This record gives sequence, C-alpha cells and structure tokens, in this order.
Amino acid sequence: MSAVLIDGRQYAADLSARLADEVEELVRTGVRPGLATVLVGNSYPAHAYERRVRRLAQRVGCHYVCEALPGEAAEADALAVVGKLGADPRISGILILRPLPAQVSEASLYRALDPVKDIESVHPISAGLLALGRPRYVPSTPASVFHLLDRYLTESGREPARTYARSNLVVVGRSANVGKPALMLAMERGATVVSCDEHSHRAGLLFEHTARADILVVAAGVPGLIRGEHVKDGVIVVDVGINAIRDPSSGTVHLIGDVDTEDVVARAEAITPVPGGVGPITDVWLLRNTVTAARLAKGIGASLAGTEGLRLQSAGT
Ligand code: NAP
Repeated sequence: MSAVLIDGRQYAADLSARLADEVEELVRTGVRPGLATVLVGNSYPAHAYERRVRRLAQRVGCHYVCEALPGEAAEADALAVVGKLGADPRISGILILRPLPAQVSEASLYRALDPVKDIESVHPISAGLLALGRPRYVPSTPASVFHLLDRYLTESGREPARTYARSNLVVVGRSANVGKPALMLAMERGATVVSCDEHSHRAGLLFEHTARADILVVAAGVPGLIRGEHVKDGVIVVDVGINAIRDPSSGTVHLIGDVDTEDVVARAEAITPVPGGVGPITDVWLLRNTVTAARLAKGIGASLAGTEGLRLQSAGT
C-alpha cells in the first residue's frame, strides 16, 4: 500500500478563492473585514507566520495591520495595543502571535481581547463557548484538520458522519490551541476519541493507542515521533507538526512534521504532507474567521466559505 498524499495547498486555494469572492461582495455592501496581528519580539516562526497572513489578507481583500513591538516591550505596552485594536472599528479580528517574550504573559493578553474579535478563541469566554460546543470561531488549526478530513472522506466516496461514528480517532498532543479543540471537534463528529500527550509516551501507552487509530491526528511538536510500526494498515493520518530542522553542513532550514512520512506512507491509506498539508489551510481559516467576525459585527451571520460539515463552526452566540 502507498498512501494518498492529501493536497492541503489545493484545499486552501479553493477556500481562499471563495473567501475572496465573499470579501468582494461584503466590500460592495460597505463592510471591509479587517485583521490585526500583534507581534512582540523577533521570533522567527512568529515573523514567518505574520508575513504569510499579511500576503493572504491582501490577496483576499481584507484590511490588514501588524502592531509590532520590540522584544523588550513591557506587558503594559502590549496590553495597550490589544486595547487599542479592540476599540478600532476597522479591525474585525485580532491574532496575538506566539511565542511571546517571557515578560509578556500570554494569558493576560488573551484576557484583554474583546471576545467578539477573538478569532482564535483564546479568551476564557471564547474557550468556554468552544468547550460547550457553541463557539463563535473554531480556532484555525483544528478547524483546518477537520475541514481537510471532512473533504478527504467525502471525495474518497464516504459519508463523513458515518465514518467518524465508526472510527477510533486518536489525537496526540493536547495544547489549548490545537490538541484540545481538535478533541472537541472529533467528539462533536461522533468519533470514539482518545487523547495522548507526553505523559502517555513516558508511561509507554502512546503507541498502544496510535496503533488502534483509524484516524490519527498528531500535534506534538516532536519531529518523526510516529513511525510505520506505530500505526495500523489503512489509517488516515493528519500531521499537524511543523518542526524546523537545520542542516548542519549547508545551514539551510527545512520543515518536517511529527510523522515519519516515508515510513508511514507504506501502511496508511492517506496522509498529509509537511509542508503542504494542514498549514496552508490554517492560514486561510484565520482569514475566514476574520470575515465571520466582520459579518457578526454587522449582524449578518457567519462566513459562508467552507462551512460544510463543520458542525461547530459559527454556531456562537
Ligand atoms: P505545544 O503547545 O508545545 O503542545 C504540544 C503537545 O504535545 C502537548 O500536549 C504535549 O504533552 C504533547 N507532547 C509533547 N511531546 C510528546 C510526546 N513525546 N508524545 C506525545 N505527546 C507529546 O504545541 P502546539 O502549539 O500544540 O503545536 C504542536 C505542533 O503543531 C508544533 O510542531 C507546531 O509547530 C505545530 N503547529 C502547526 C500548525 C499548522 O497550521 N500546521 C499550527 C499550530 C501548531 P503535554 O501536554 O503532556 O506537555
């Protein structure tokens, strides 16, 4: 068996084309969605993400601003920026880029967000709504995981709801921004869900569970954690991990996932590549949530792009 490589770039291109049409339509009615990013310090991944989001925002026709602060900025300065963006009517959604420097508390910045502009659902109120199954916005990475899975299942001739209902779905990693919301989306779809983390690995339980997965979502940030011997034949694998590896001889950096793709490809039915799997869809989903925020602010409902099968999406109060 040699697995299908699920083309996240194509899925992302389809979504962004629909989003661009939707933004054009909104602009005609006098509503231009606006995204703001808050960037503190010089973290390479945060800057790389900011550049990608900026390009995409411009491409789909959204207003965009980046509020950049130096790495030594005080927490009070970052809080003031978040407050200013919250009061700015041109801004529909705010993304706080991670990692933040040690003196700036992530939790404090999240609490300072206006929940209506909290497009990654990190404010405690947003996280609570998500846990209750009534989020305004499904965080972009887990939303992308299930957009990708729903579409792949449909295109491979299966009914997603029936497939999830018969699946053991294992999520490796349980961070607040990726693993936990992915578990909630999986439960919402009726899958039998297992959560594994570093403790499971240390206790020797991790691979017992991954070997039983029909659908395996890996978001641990550990390069090559999952190999062929850790999965069963026919599994569908979504590799969320993005790990930058520097070649010591050339100094060049390349990205790899949490799954040893070359090894797993012989056993899996389908797998997402890194790069080119979940990542490109995540970027578009952030803009999609921004468009939803603009629509909600005007009382005209959620973004229309990519709603199929996302039962949790845009049900928020
Ligand atoms: P994180 O906050 O560091 O969380 C990592 C999670 O993985 C934790 O729950 C941790 O367990 C668990 N873990 C760590 N080592 C493990 C091991 N050996 N076995 C099993 N579980 C282990 O990371 P994150 O923000 O969720 O990101 C995870 C990965 O996804 C990273 O590579 C990140 O770059 C990538 N990512 C990709 C996208 C995208 O769009 N594709 C978006 C966001 C993140 P404990 O809870 O026990 O510590």
